[in-house]
Amino acid sequence: MAGLGQRRQTGEVAYVDEATGEKVVKLGGLEFPPRKVWMKTFGCQMNYHDSERILSHLKDLNFSKTDEKENADLILFNTCAIRDLANTKFYSQLGEIKHNKKKNEKLVVGVGGCVAQTEGKTLVKKYKHLDFAFGTDVIDSINDLVYRSYAGDGKFSVNAWDRSADFSIQTKITHGSPQAFVNIIKGCNKYCSYCIVPYTRGKERSRKCAEVVEDVKKLVKHQGIQEVTLLGQNVNSYGKENNESLSQLIMELDKIEGLELIRYTTSHPYDVSDELIEVHGKAKKLSKHLHLPVQSGSKSVLERMLREYTPEHFLGLCRKLRKAQPEIVLSTDIIVGFPNETEEEFQDTLKLLDEAQFDFIYSYVYSPRKGTKSAKMADTLPDDVRGERLRYLQKYQLGIQEKLRAPLKGQIMRVLVDGQSHQKGIQKWKGRTNCNRIVHFSPDKLEKNYLWHWVDVEITRATSLSCVGDIVQDYGRRLGGE
Ligand code: SF4
Repeated sequence: MAGLGQRRQTGEVAYVDEATGEKVVKLGGLEFPPRKVWMKTFGCQMNYHDSERILSHLKDLNFSKTDEKENADLILFNTCAIRDLANTKFYSQLGEIKHNKKKNEKLVVGVGGCVAQTEGKTLVKKYKHLDFAFGTDVIDSINDLVYRSYAGDGKFSVNAWDRSADFSIQTKITHGSPQAFVNIIKGCNKYCSYCIVPYTRGKERSRKCAEVVEDVKKLVKHQGIQEVTLLGQNVNSYGKENNESLSQLIMELDKIEGLELIRYTTSHPYDVSDELIEVHGKAKKLSKHLHLPVQSGSKSVLERMLREYTPEHFLGLCRKLRKAQPEIVLSTDIIVGFPNETEEEFQDTLKLLDEAQFDFIYSYVYSPRKGTKSAKMADTLPDDVRGERLRYLQKYQLGIQEKLRAPLKGQIMRVLVDGQSHQKGIQKWKGRTNCNRIVHFSPDKLEKNYLWHWVDVEITRATSLSCVGDIVQDYGRRLGGE
């Protein structure tokens, strides 16, 4: 089989079958008539981005996406090893697929992503209806793997790391939205004690700044992209090996005509430089929202997590960011109940929430991940205490958010509409502001389609989780008025 990390260059050839009038793709000795792929993605934005890439490659093999599992010729899972819930859901859904395979013997089933990276061989052995597993670094070889499966290569698992000199990819998107995720760095060198990512995604490697800029220019020019989210496990570490930086990249992207909004995720507080903070005040297109995961407000817990910063350092970053960009909105992740977390340590996290004034948070109860340092720690904290603390913390934060968002009433906010919503049986539209707040509004004409329009909305009600308002201006699909 050709290189695992890089797509094989042999190329597919397409022709139209005169008998059926259908397109057929020829690759190697095999013919691929039109087929359907059903794909389920678990986990983070990086996984969703990878799935998008996989679907884009599969188009070349004549696969189109279906939302009906029953109609699928190929079923793929893109898995997440970080959260317990995603893991449990995946195993249960994988188990159910055996019924689909019973009904359709030709069905091909594959599992990719973080779980496949570490446990692919075991999965293929254990689940008789699973044909192949593929790790996080071979997604660009998906067509080779599907080819192997259709060529009758039996059950297999591939989880090799891509060791080629450069991390170089072009963004692939299959949807028609003006938003795109652009992968700029992969892997992570941090080894936080609770996290499985360095084991499932490997060492950090960045794309070259010039390549990313060209990629985004093409997305804007040829695919109508207006909003990009720069993606990586630790984007703040971007470019180190090439003497480049995230701040430099953002300032270059800021110059691209037609691009309206730049976001980036995920950040590690240790790597937030003063230069990057300054960029939040300088770059006109950079989102006024930053998600900065703190995980805990306790110095001792942060030490056990190997996070390499203190609560004081984190709060200092918040202050500097607000000074550089007074309109910035901050959000965070919190892990509640890290091994042996004391009541005092938990209280320190509540104190940090008070001081940081986050606009929203994602909070989770700690769950050990096999193979990580924290999973080996002796832990005496009972699960019911963890659950109680999580509920308390979430309620506490909602109180903060309610106060923080009350003054939004009466303000006019610009929103990129991304879908419809139903509130108390009333049909509405919804979208996100530059600072990533969700806003719902009623259409001025019921039948009007606002999808991907830029609109100004006057906020009439602000709750701790979302805002509701009335549309005051519709700019259409382009702010420039095209
Ligand atoms: S920085 Fe993020 S991805 Fe890297 S080890 Fe820590 S939590 Fe995991």
